[in-house]
Amino acid sequence: MTDHPRIPLAGVIGHPVAHSRSPALHAYWLRRYGLKGHYIPIDMAPNDLPDLIRTLPRLGFVGLNVTIPHKESILHIADIITDRAALIGAANTLIFRKDGKIHADNTDGSGFIANIRQSAPHWQPSAGPAVVFGAGGAARAVVASLIEVGVPEIRLANRTRARADALRSDFGAKVVVHEWTQAAALLGDAATVVNTTSLGMTGKPEFRMPLATLNPRALVTDLVYTPLKTQFLIEAEALGCTVVDGLGMLLHQAAPGFERWFGQRPEVDEETRRAVLLA
Ligand code: NAP
Repeated sequence: MTDHPRIPLAGVIGHPVAHSRSPALHAYWLRRYGLKGHYIPIDMAPNDLPDLIRTLPRLGFVGLNVTIPHKESILHIADIITDRAALIGAANTLIFRKDGKIHADNTDGSGFIANIRQSAPHWQPSAGPAVVFGAGGAARAVVASLIEVGVPEIRLANRTRARADALRSDFGAKVVVHEWTQAAALLGDAATVVNTTSLGMTGKPEFRMPLATLNPRALVTDLVYTPLKTQFLIEAEALGCTVVDGLGMLLHQAAPGFERWFGQRPEVDEETRRAVLLA
């Protein structure tokens, strides 16, 4: 019998997953580089996760992206967890290794930093404190990566204070927790300001943070990318700040998985952005 090479399969698991832009992104890269492969959205309920994940490699899957609500629970299934995924407490990229082991990584933080560096090359993380709004799963990746690139202090404010306190106890003394209702007072000397809450996303309430004291030299970024330019970014830009939207983070966090699964490091450029926006 001839041993036919299998066409590599990858995908994104979530619940729900229909909204994900990842299938459009990976399909675009596969086309652009003329590679064989498919990338499929997989809606998987939490109870089915352990059994189905173990089945996928036998069907030809070489890996997966992981999204809400599985990013944390996937760590109980993985055999090998990178240090950064362990520190963040969540994974977004799985590699199904040839020896049968599941390797879990978190590329959200590196994607977050790569997006800022590409869009605002003059950004100096060490120039002053960062203010981070929100303390959910994405905030954990953002805080870990800001510490890694040398931000001297992270002022963290979240509606539910206990979540911010938990982050401080995991990430240490560089993280200083502040009251959500007083957060506008933190902005005066901030060099970096990040919205990691889901506020401002289409269908959610607006993110209403008084920005009058914002330093015009601050770099302001939002993880929300629908709409591409949130009201928060529009207001910060009007005050003279450099602003970076969240779409680039989505693209950059996806690149390492694509490279491992399909063997080609993809470009994140204007064409890629356009392909995902038009899809
Ligand atoms: P999550 O774990 O559910 O956290 C949601 C965050 O939003 C929490 O801090 C939550 O505060 C806050 N929040 C929600 N509703 C609020 C409200 N009405 N008032 C004040 N705060 C509110 O979600 P996540 O995974 O961290 O994702 C957060 C956002 O980042 C989402 O919009 C997601 O799409 C986006 N994201 C983007 C990328 C990208 O590549 N651009 C990657 C990951 C995530 P409480 O703790 O008080 O509930």
